[in-house]
Amino acid sequence: MKTRFLATLLLASAPLALAQAAPKATPKPPKSVRLYIFNCGSIKGLSPATFNFKPEEVKATEMVVPCYLVVHPLGTMIWDTGVIADSAFKPDGSPVTQGTGVTMSAIKPLKTQLAAVGYKPSDITYLALSHYHSDHTANANDYAGSTWLVHQEERDFMFNPPPQAPVMSTASFSALKDAKTTIIKRDDFDVFGDGTVIIKFAPGHTPGHQVLFLKLAKTGPVLVAGDLYHYPEERTTGNVPTFEYNKEQSLASRAKIEAFLKQSNAKLWIEHDKATFDTLKKSPAFYE
Ligand SMILES: [Zn+2]
Repeated sequence: MKTRFLATLLLASAPLALAQAAPKATPKPPKSVRLYIFNCGSIKGLSPATFNFKPEEVKATEMVVPCYLVVHPLGTMIWDTGVIADSAFKPDGSPVTQGTGVTMSAIKPLKTQLAAVGYKPSDITYLALSHYHSDHTANANDYAGSTWLVHQEERDFMFNPPPQAPVMSTASFSALKDAKTTIIKRDDFDVFGDGTVIIKFAPGHTPGHQVLFLKLAKTGPVLVAGDLYHYPEERTTGNVPTFEYNKEQSLASRAKIEAFLKQSNAKLWIEHDKATFDTLKKSPAFYE
């Protein structure tokens, strides 16, 4: 009797186990563009002086590090890949902190957050990084199977950097060297060809720094600004970080993007700004 009960239980549970082991099907493409925002970590202990500010001139020094997933009817795109590599997480999944003085931490791997909304790296059509700095590239190698969207200036710098190029972790993006790559040649690159997802050239912070414009059906136009600014105070003072690739270029890019914001009426989301991030919906919620 006992044995039969056990056998029944095993039989009953077998299909369930199989169902759990089978990979989940990728979600059906949505009718209009969606944007998921992932919490990819934070950076603490930064000196405002690094950004040409006195301590009393910035409200908060902590920076957040978001990653973004754009889901379009025709494909998907990851924008920025975080400050902590997924591989740094232990099996128990506890939060990871790295560095001394300036510390970088993350509470969840990017792949786990991606999986929570039904996607895995091999489902991602495009990878785009706002720029090559290490707080944006931690998981770039995981998306080397996607098509990488990059400006020539940025790619050249990444694979042939001058000695002591700041904020660079070449190992974190080394696999992109052999990735299928689309070199963005125009100022505006229309990713899916319908004007809803546009990468705009905004160099200066790095040679090929870029920002992301989204035309969302319900939310309206949004500009995900990369590191065009770090602290919102940069917007009103004109201060640029001490480690800009080209300060004049940064100021020209800011002027160009500010004019675009006026003309497009887009909301500006500074990626590292904690105050902005705190107000935004995080995945699994999404903007559409
Ligand atoms: Zn950054």
